Amino acid sequence: MLQTDEPKQASEYLRQVIPMLSQQNLAPTPINYAVFYSYISGSSKALNEIVENTLSEKKSFDEAMMNELYNKYINGFSTTEQQSNIQRLLEKVMNEASDEIGQVNQGANAFDSTLNKHSTALSSIDDPQAAALIMQQLMQDTRAMIKNIAQVQARMQETNEEIAKMKVELEAVKATAEKDSLTGLKNRGAFDKAVGQLLNDEASNNVTLIMLDIDHFKRINDNYGHLVGDRFIRYVSALLKQIVGEDHHIARYGGEEFAVIIKNSSVKEVLPIAEKIRGSMANSKLQRKGSGETIGQVTLSVGLTSVKPNDDIETFIDRADKALYEAKQTGRDKVVSI
Ligand code: GH3
Ligand code: MG
Ligand code: MG
Repeated sequence: MLQTDEPKQASEYLRQVIPMLSQQNLAPTPINYAVFYSYISGSSKALNEIVENTLSEKKSFDEAMMNELYNKYINGFSTTEQQSNIQRLLEKVMNEASDEIGQVNQGANAFDSTLNKHSTALSSIDDPQAAALIMQQLMQDTRAMIKNIAQVQARMQETNEEIAKMKVELEAVKATAEKDSLTGLKNRGAFDKAVGQLLNDEASNNVTLIMLDIDHFKRINDNYGHLVGDRFIRYVSALLKQIVGEDHHIARYGGEEFAVIIKNSSVKEVLPIAEKIRGSMANSKLQRKGSGETIGQVTLSVGLTSVKPNDDIETFIDRADKALYEAKQTGRDKVVSI
């Protein structure tokens, strides 16, 4: 991945990425760069298959495809990989710790039989010189045992520290693995997990899902550039947080698509919230940073549905998607509920 390759290796990859971008007529945006960098470094088999097929079929890579590849294979992929690396390390350390415990047990058993041997010998001996020799041997064995225990204790201490450090790292990686890096909202994986849990929970039979998609977002990228596009995505996410509040699950579900789960509410109760989001967006007067140039009206299409008996995550999300599709088909800047 980008952060972990050696600098020399990374600049070698960079040398190969730049011509690829220009051959494909793609701007050197961070997303385009990251996708081809991943391809060149071979960090995802699935991504490489898609890129190779596209190249061999002489198809071109457009921005939408690059975004899709980025969201699917890069955003979140590295954290999953990091997570399994840490888990592997943790397993290794645990195995070492259990070996050490095994060694301690073996040492203790050996010492126990040495003590038994010496005490049997002592009880059957009258000669003080011979007894002194046995005592000397006993002292030597005891000193060796104490030294051994001290070494094992030091190693155990190190192991404990390593485990504690890894736990902290694992927690941090887990948290990033659930977040969308651009907006800080939940990512699709984390959202699906949360919805799945809600659907399994008998008590939550009154759950409403809102799916939102920015209208004609491609035009914003085309007219103002990708960075302005990214700022729009962050703007919508802030609007959602502000209107919906942090108590509900809000996710960036795809490139310019968002999903919100409102617990304990029916479609009827959520409709005004969805309308408020749509209206606030339509009335936002957005300006370009620096120049202050006004960007024309940007709107959202919104689909709503409540959970029905026998819904699974797929049927539930499909229905919300259908409502969203209908909002797009019937003019955009609309809320449709099913
Ligand atoms: P519609 O009203 O039908 O939704 O039209 P649209 O242009 O919004 O939809 P379309 O699916 O054609 O294009 C979505 C665009 O969103 C294409 C893609 O380049 C862009 N996009 C996806 N993810 C990102 C991102 O993270 N940042 C930026 N700037 N653009 C993105
Ligand atoms: Mg759109
Ligand atoms: Mg879309």
